[in-house]
Amino acid sequence: MNQTPEFANKNKYDFNFIKPESVLNWDEYFMLQAMMASFKSKDPATKVGCVFVDDNNHQITFGYNGFVAGIDESELPWGKDKTAPLEYQKYGYVVHAEANAILHAQRSLNGARCYVTLFPCHECAKLLASSKVKEVIYLSDKHFGTESNNISKRIFNLCGISTRQITMSDTILENLSDHLKNLII
Ligand SMILES: [Zn+2]
Repeated sequence: MNQTPEFANKNKYDFNFIKPESVLNWDEYFMLQAMMASFKSKDPATKVGCVFVDDNNHQITFGYNGFVAGIDESELPWGKDKTAPLEYQKYGYVVHAEANAILHAQRSLNGARCYVTLFPCHECAKLLASSKVKEVIYLSDKHFGTESNNISKRIFNLCGISTRQITMSDTILENLSDHLKNLII
């Protein structure tokens, strides 16, 4: 193998050897993507987004919660009050973020990591496990302790899927906000 050529005048031009700062790690980057996907959801109560990535940190698919594709949304209820029958609740018509992402994946999710803003419900846990996802990284676990939440955790444990909660620091969100504003100046 050839030797790497040395810089003959490195000292002279040292001012251009700027040390780049790492702004985001991969966890933060993909969780921000999941958060962006959730931003697209029309659900007035709970907006969830997710991104699936492979071992090379390439995105495979993403999704957010929304009504069945192609349906006339204006005809359907977004409310979640369960005193009404199921056909008068959003739950009759909504497809969860993880399910949408899995439905639209163009390649295998075997061994993928799933970044999701909310810990998956048991229906999505079944899909994630059956898709052979290896890890679920989440922001919120606000349904902790509910029956659905417990089923999800049982499924993940029995399938050997690891789960990990991460937080997004205010600094990252502020830096991102500054960055976005700078882009449009
Ligand atoms: Zn779900």
